[in-house]
Amino acid sequence: MQSNLAELLTMKNPDTVEKVSFVIPCYNEKETISIYYEAMESLLKKGILEKLQWEYVFIDDGSTDGSLKIIKELAERNNKVHFISFSRNFGKEAAILAGLHNADGDYVVTMDVDLQDSPNLLSDMYRAVVVEGYDCAAAMRINRKGEGRIRSFLSESFYKVINKLSDIEIVSGARDYRFMNRNVADAIISVGEYNRFSKGIFSWIGFKTKWIEYENVERSAGNTKWSIWKLFSYAMEGIVAFSTKLLNLASAIGIICCMLAFISLIFIVIRALVYGDPVAGWPSMMCVIILMGGVQLLCVGILSTYLSKTYLETKKRPIYIIREKDEKKA
Ligand code: UDP
Ligand code: MG
Repeated sequence: MQSNLAELLTMKNPDTVEKVSFVIPCYNEKETISIYYEAMESLLKKGILEKLQWEYVFIDDGSTDGSLKIIKELAERNNKVHFISFSRNFGKEAAILAGLHNADGDYVVTMDVDLQDSPNLLSDMYRAVVVEGYDCAAAMRINRKGEGRIRSFLSESFYKVINKLSDIEIVSGARDYRFMNRNVADAIISVGEYNRFSKGIFSWIGFKTKWIEYENVERSAGNTKWSIWKLFSYAMEGIVAFSTKLLNLASAIGIICCMLAFISLIFIVIRALVYGDPVAGWPSMMCVIILMGGVQLLCVGILSTYLSKTYLETKKRPIYIIREKDEKKA
């Protein structure tokens, strides 16, 4: 009934019908793409987005498993399916940005293809943004069911650390699953940094966001693309991109060490004057030298992390390179 209404409206005046663009990053997802597409189509055709039209923008992030072929087949079958294919794997953040650049809907939704971002939340998100007037609706999982213990612990610790260190607030459990209006999408595009950390960018740009809670869902098929090491560098990216407090920490450690050294110096000089200078204290000296060496290397390490990010930023390399794009979008 509702989809008939949508068709009628389109026929009368196509310009007044608003559209939502689904931006879907895919990296080696041949098992999940069709499952995602079928799930979305069956739901959207029920008219859950009322009078909104929709399109899909799939971003093939340099897959090597034939994901692009599956996306191309969908594009041939359905005019609403568009795709962009990268020249290599540039990462999910780059894929989301490319999707936003190519999504011309009045609303944009960023979501994963593995159905962990459940399409069932779309109607709540739609209501929040289109009816209630929020700028953005974001999904937040309230548990980590099905995720390994170490992984959950590390993720939780990361959120604690980043919220302590940075001025922005990043909600633990926040996903990159967002339903946003045009203003929010444009604001994200306007943040032109090379080292992109979407969760931070979403928080940094502000806007009125409604959080929609849900229980964690496991992948529909295939495996996660995030190794612990990849997650660790992602976490470092987030901390370095949104906080300079580690640099201050390096100075603080330096000042404390200088003060301790100064106090020890006075103590040793006085002791030598009062008690003479037996050649004792060699082991403690070694400890101090090693400790100071360690502290200096730590501080240099912190500096180099920021320097390397600045180095990449100043090169102004493109964030992604497109190898192929569907003709409808070209
Ligand atoms: N993804 C991507 N490029 C990458 C890694 C992942 O486009 O380099 C996509 C992936 O295809 C999926 C989404 O990002 O649609 C989330 O990835 P994944 O499910 O592996 O992450 P998790 O849900 O475990 O955090
Ligand atoms: Mg996933």
